Amino acid sequence: MKLYTKIFVGLLAGGLSGLAVNVWAGRATWVHWVDTNVAGPVGQIFLRLLLMTVVPLVFTSITLGVAQLGDIRKVGRVGARSLAYFLLSTVISTVIGILLVNVVRPGVGVPVEVRQQLLDAYRGQVAGLQAGGSTTFGVDLFVNIVPRNPIQAAANLDMLGIICFALVFGAALTLIPEEKARPLVRVLDAVAEAIAKIIGMAMHLAPYGVFGLIFVVTSLLGWDILRKLLAYVLVVLVGLLIHGTVSLSLLVRFLGGLNPLVFWRRISPSVVTAFTTSSSNATLPTNIAVAEQELKIPPRIAGFVLPLGSTMCHNGTALYEGVTVLFLAQLFGVNLTVGQQVIAMVLSVITAVGTAGVPGGSLPLLMVVCATVGVPPEVVGVVYGVERILDMSRTTLNVCGDLTAAVYVARTESEWDPRLVTAQTGLPQAA
Ligand code: ASP
Repeated sequence: MKLYTKIFVGLLAGGLSGLAVNVWAGRATWVHWVDTNVAGPVGQIFLRLLLMTVVPLVFTSITLGVAQLGDIRKVGRVGARSLAYFLLSTVISTVIGILLVNVVRPGVGVPVEVRQQLLDAYRGQVAGLQAGGSTTFGVDLFVNIVPRNPIQAAANLDMLGIICFALVFGAALTLIPEEKARPLVRVLDAVAEAIAKIIGMAMHLAPYGVFGLIFVVTSLLGWDILRKLLAYVLVVLVGLLIHGTVSLSLLVRFLGGLNPLVFWRRISPSVVTAFTTSSSNATLPTNIAVAEQELKIPPRIAGFVLPLGSTMCHNGTALYEGVTVLFLAQLFGVNLTVGQQVIAMVLSVITAVGTAGVPGGSLPLLMVVCATVGVPPEVVGVVYGVERILDMSRTTLNVCGDLTAAVYVARTESEWDPRLVTAQTGLPQAA
């Protein structure tokens, strides 16, 4: 059985058995015993395996990202254009997500006692995880971003502090002689790969972890929570759909000069691969082939923009993170001011850049965003049950975003002509 099928079975089995227990046994003491001694711990071990990757993951991915910017600078305009486009499309998708979750408010309206039960179910499981950073928007925030002691920042999970240190450290690596920096970059690269492996191994536990997490929640709360989760899933899916059909299509039309209908029709192999693998990295070979063969993008552009995009441009992930953090804040009654929402948005964009393009790659970073704005990171367990379908969907958007970037860069940087693509379809070209 494929892993994602197993995770889905775990979700279904955990949800249904939890619901059945909730309906028939209610608050019986044995239910509480099973929650605290069996289902809860299984879910928590899964969560902790992901959580333990957070500090090294953030540090290595951001340091490497910046250190590699040194190389990108050498590639000049193509690099700068790609990065600008990555940033633009990621910001647009995050804004869509944040607006949508504020309008629909899928997490609002949980009765206080239900909220308390939820918190009790998760509290203490991952003790001491509250972020060390400031969570209010003011001058203090900016001062506190710069850590006094990076080790302490790491120990306190002060993610803004770690990110700041990693940014500065990565920049410094590009300024020292290359022969000195190279060995360290290679070590960090190996660390990043090992961490991605750990996440991959943790994902093998996901079917059981997901079973445990969803069982605890549904056995405690029954239908109430399921309805909220469904609304949340719909918000993420609708957000992704809007980003794909409206913003990416407009970007392809106006920045790439290509008819979006042609674009979407041509890239379907990438869509299917991304949806089924949940991995930008795994989809990269297909994406390069699609760009070169279907979109006629010159290999030198496709071979540069797409690998970079699969590591740095994660539109769907950023939208997902923004919506999830705000949903959890609504669910647990954490009032986020506009300033805090802006922080959540900026962090979603930054952490999406640092996300590894593997299944579940953004999960540890999601906890980072939560912790920084004051949502207890352990409560992300609530949404892990429905994570797989969202991973498949957001990865699809990540990969499509990369292709739109390739179209834009090809249009501006080479002799590529959208007519090359439209000529074979019979559909009108856009520009
Ligand atoms: N699975 C996503 C990707 O590979 C990353 C994530 O959001 O977890 O693009």
